[in-house]
Amino acid sequence: MKTIGLLGGMSWQSTLGYYQQINELVALKLGGLHSAKIAMRSVDFAPVAAMQKQDRWQEMGQLLSAEARLIEAAGADCLLICTNTMHLVAEQVAEAISIPLLHIADATAQQLHAQQQQKVALLGTVFTMQKSFYKDRIRERFGIEVIVPDNAAQLQVNDVIYNELCVGQISETSRQQFLNIIAELKQRGAEGVILGCTEIGLLVQQQHCSLPLFDTTSIHAKAAVDFALA
Ligand code: GLU
Repeated sequence: MKTIGLLGGMSWQSTLGYYQQINELVALKLGGLHSAKIAMRSVDFAPVAAMQKQDRWQEMGQLLSAEARLIEAAGADCLLICTNTMHLVAEQVAEAISIPLLHIADATAQQLHAQQQQKVALLGTVFTMQKSFYKDRIRERFGIEVIVPDNAAQLQVNDVIYNELCVGQISETSRQQFLNIIAELKQRGAEGVILGCTEIGLLVQQQHCSLPLFDTTSIHAKAAVDFALA
């Protein structure tokens, strides 16, 4: 079994999910007392979130690259950046290490492709929904159309992520808000929804929604286990 490198803490609420799901999948596949071999670093999210608001992506890239090097030195065979948003600096991080970086958008797009999705909605932070690093990668590499909510709904989703989900608050009102936004995206032709923020799966699950949901935390965790056990 290979060692999975996790760069977490963004936020720690979703890193918990990675740790749990990776171990559950390894136990399921290998049975008995087997668990995953993991090398993890977890950052303080407050300064990272502050830098996001100031568009200081180059500096964040340097910070995550330094963390990634420590994870590699700790014996990891691959690296996962446990957040969609911070994949904005994925190329910079990948260049700083010699182990492969398992990209969250690629793993997600492979699932979308396997389920024959041609037009999907993307929910995430404003950075993920508005900037090109995520949507264009899926469109260009996999030929899948990605649509996002209107500006007002984008701000609602973003506020819930940072003010509630990243601090562990789950609200029924916010869940309903997300489901209304998803219903609107369905009317615009979305065949499925990318939960393109690693905390959204804490709020909205498949039982709440008739459109297929693609939870990036679960998909990314499974990609790591597939890599580790290949
Ligand atoms: N975990 C979130 C994501 O997947 C948002 C927090 C962050 O900005 O990293 O995008």
